[in-house]
Amino acid sequence: MSSSSSSSSSSSSSSSSSLPPQTLKIGIVGFGTFGQFLAKTMIKQGHTTRATSRTDYSQLCHQLDVPFFRDVIPFLEADNDVILICTSILSLSEVLNSMPLRRLKRHMLFVDVLSVKEHPRNVLLQVLPENMDVLCTHPMFGPESGKNGWKDLPLVYEKVRVRDETRCSSFLHIFESEGCRMVEMSCEEHDKVAARSQFLSHSIGRILAEMGIESTSMNTKSFETLVKLKESTTNDSFDLFSGLFIHNRFAQQELMNLEQSFEKVKQRLLKKMSEQQSLSSV
Ligand code: NAP
Repeated sequence: MSSSSSSSSSSSSSSSSSLPPQTLKIGIVGFGTFGQFLAKTMIKQGHTTRATSRTDYSQLCHQLDVPFFRDVIPFLEADNDVILICTSILSLSEVLNSMPLRRLKRHMLFVDVLSVKEHPRNVLLQVLPENMDVLCTHPMFGPESGKNGWKDLPLVYEKVRVRDETRCSSFLHIFESEGCRMVEMSCEEHDKVAARSQFLSHSIGRILAEMGIESTSMNTKSFETLVKLKESTTNDSFDLFSGLFIHNRFAQQELMNLEQSFEKVKQRLLKKMSEQQSLSSV
């Protein structure tokens, strides 16, 4: 079995195998904002997609020419090469546990795109039969940042359990061929780095939204950045944000660091103010 499960350092790498990429049949679980966004590029590249979701997306799927399955059993029994999990972080366990995965006969590659990585890796390894391949990915972009193409946007991935390298490379090629920066990294390393980058920026964006900051007629460039941060983070669902916290074991520490750093900056300001006041009173 060729399985690479513990690359602990991040590195840009090419995922290509020597064989030409295959056209894949991709079954998408969770056809919300992000599932739809990914499907459009996959369809454009000539892959076959089908979808299932909690909400009835039959009409939208009809327009996209994507077969929509209300019932998960025929969806799983269709001839999928890849099952692409695009559900929310919070619903992952519930969604996977509601599927008769242990009865699957066809060998498939299960891929997730969740914004945390240790959690889906653990759940997938727990619920899937041993003969299913597992690739954990995180496209570090979304419908807004990727609306003009995916060039140079990072795709972080770990080949958790991959026997069929050609099928896995063909899947990764979807991102490579759009110009993504391919970053192979362990799920643990991803979560450590993401807690200090993505979760932090989402938290600050949410705090700014809580404060109700708005663009003004005298924006500095830095303030414009803050307004954009507020807008981009609040465009994502609160489920996504809370998932980044609940299912990343490194996030709680970063929230505490943020709180302590805020307090330190505040104390420095108050100290300086009282020094100035004592000076002006002499
Ligand atoms: P999201 O709010 O994180 O997830 C929405 C999806 O989860 C929908 O497909 C929804 O199904 C499904 N869902 C939510 N609760 C459910 C439940 N109780 N039972 C069954 N299904 C449930 O929003 P998203 O932006 O579409 O993100 C999807 C995934 O992609 C997330 O894991 C996120 O971390 C990841 N991701 C998102 C982005 C991004 O920019 N948005 C970027 C990278 C990765 P219905 O639509 O059928 O209700």
